[in-house]
Amino acid sequence: MKSLWSDADAQGAVTTYGAEGANEDVALRVYTTRLLGGDPALVLHGGGNTSVKTDVEDMDGTQVRVLCVKGSGWDMAAIEPPGLPAVRLDPLTRLEALDALSDEDMVSHQRRNLLNPASPNPSVETLLHAFLPHKFVDHTHANAVLALSDQPDGEARCANLYGGRAAVVPFVMPGFDLAKECAEIWRGNRDVEGLVLHNHGIFSFGDTAQEAYERMISLVGLAEQELIRATRAPFAQVKLPEDLASAADVAPIIRGALAVHDETGGTCQRFVLEHRSSPKILAFTNGENVADYATRGTITPDHVIRTKGTPVVLPAPEAGALDDFAGSADHAVTRFEAEYRTYFERNNARLDSAKKMLDTMPRVALVPGLGLFAAGKSAKEAAIAADLAETSIEVITAAEAVGRYEPLSLDQLFDMEYWSLEQAKLRKGTEPPLARHVVAITGGAGTIGRATAEAFRAQGAEVAIIDLEGDALAGAASETGAFAVAGNVTDEASAHEAMQRIAERFGGVDIVISNAGAAWQGRIGEVGEDVMRQSFELNFWGHQRIAQAAVSIMQAQRTGGCLLFNVTKQAVNPGADFGPYGIPKAAALALMRQYAVDYGRIGIRSNAVNADRIRGGLLTSDMIASRSAARQVSEDDYMSGNLLGREVEATDVALAFVHLALAPATTGAVVTVDGGNVAAMMR
Ligand code: ZN
Repeated sequence: MKSLWSDADAQGAVTTYGAEGANEDVALRVYTTRLLGGDPALVLHGGGNTSVKTDVEDMDGTQVRVLCVKGSGWDMAAIEPPGLPAVRLDPLTRLEALDALSDEDMVSHQRRNLLNPASPNPSVETLLHAFLPHKFVDHTHANAVLALSDQPDGEARCANLYGGRAAVVPFVMPGFDLAKECAEIWRGNRDVEGLVLHNHGIFSFGDTAQEAYERMISLVGLAEQELIRATRAPFAQVKLPEDLASAADVAPIIRGALAVHDETGGTCQRFVLEHRSSPKILAFTNGENVADYATRGTITPDHVIRTKGTPVVLPAPEAGALDDFAGSADHAVTRFEAEYRTYFERNNARLDSAKKMLDTMPRVALVPGLGLFAAGKSAKEAAIAADLAETSIEVITAAEAVGRYEPLSLDQLFDMEYWSLEQAKLRKGTEPPLARHVVAITGGAGTIGRATAEAFRAQGAEVAIIDLEGDALAGAASETGAFAVAGNVTDEASAHEAMQRIAERFGGVDIVISNAGAAWQGRIGEVGEDVMRQSFELNFWGHQRIAQAAVSIMQAQRTGGCLLFNVTKQAVNPGADFGPYGIPKAAALALMRQYAVDYGRIGIRSNAVNADRIRGGLLTSDMIASRSAARQVSEDDYMSGNLLGREVEATDVALAFVHLALAPATTGAVVTVDGGNVAAMMR
């Protein structure tokens, strides 16, 4: 671990943040907070905080002594001065005289002493920062320190290692009690550079930003040096099946096992997954005793709100035996849930509290041979859980190499998992209707594809767009926040591969918008067979290939699904010389109905949007432009003659797809989006 302090950068921070009104203390506090936050071996997703004691000017011009402390919700790696709200220091330090203080009173007291009432909540560890007298106080959940502390003799190991440089504080739940305990221990060890919080993390402090920061680096560096001495490889490896199933095949099964079904059989809650694999992760998941060392508890308590106390450990999946894997996954998850309920009831009774049980599902699944799968209500949350799981693997591996990994007990974790201040970090209002859903859109780089991607993103869904490789795909992905998948639906292997990549990225797929299409023309009695076949490849087979690949994933998930096809009015109202386009589209309409018939009983709905004369919607994507037979439709056609006299936009088509995705009792239906055209009405 090396100090990244640079005098020039520090001076730069003073200049930059000074221009925004921050004083030098706050500017330097921002600078070193970012240095700490930028190193995942020190700080990960809220696992740390910093403060500085300084004087700032109040509205009336008087100087006020304040604690500028990390605000809840700010990422240390990207913090700005407003991320360090100023709290009047004296009212905070006076609290130390109390014998007890409830969490609610603590939070309320902190809030009402904020200089700016619009500030975020000061960190839950604010009082600890306030009660220590040092000007700069830094706190991290450094991996190396946790690996040494999470041991049966962790306190002694750390005391030996640090001698007089850092005092060890036994585990106490964060909040008022921990703040008092730390201040007390510091008073008995006034020369120390920091405090090791057993099973939790480390504090360093100093008179300057540089001193506190460099003490942190140096103290953590000592722990790293200690770990480097370990030479044994901690995990004896199991023998894996010769032919392992792929992550793409396994992810939908895990996703299905983690879905919570309501009593009526509909799915009420599902997760988005993130898969991670690396030599280190695999050495961990492929260990003979993974079910033991992986399930002793989290490396530091606050992980519990995102990963639960333990992961679920699944067997190695064999290709060709996925049904067996699905059975084992269900069994393991059911057992996990039962154990979670017992844990909840036991601790709720112990504390004589009336907490409401959170959902019982694991957030991390370990799969020998494949690595880890993390679950969250969005891709972003799944990635956070995956980061924490990966770091846990790092720490547990290091801990087992020097001794035995032994963190805080699961029962002690309960206090953290159900601590109102931790739960408050997760509550962020109601979820949009398609949150937790994965949407795949073919022809995603075209006008309708982009509009559809945007419409589904707006409903909270994770969106993947499939289109031919190129700038249009990359542009559409970055514009809409969708995941780009290069694929060609006219090629069976490519279409299948595209869906596999989506399953690997998000854990599966729930809604598919089969939208890729293009118009070929020709008088039907004369048109060449090659033209008809080309059109069928895209306008019929393209739909069938994507639907088939999607249905296979949906069946593995066992949570129903939604297929949406973009057909055209040509399917019901043929236009002169449009046979090569309309005939395969008519077949696609029949295809939609067939999926509705064959898969309704497992909850897969199949519907179509019958779009016509969409501005920019037909024949204009890159893919279509490259086809020699394609022809531009005159822009004038779009508004003329529809009943509403209204220009129909790509967003109108996108909305129809969204409505169908949200209609749980609708299958086999066609929604027409053309501004009204009697000849194209369904009958
Ligand atoms: Zn902490």
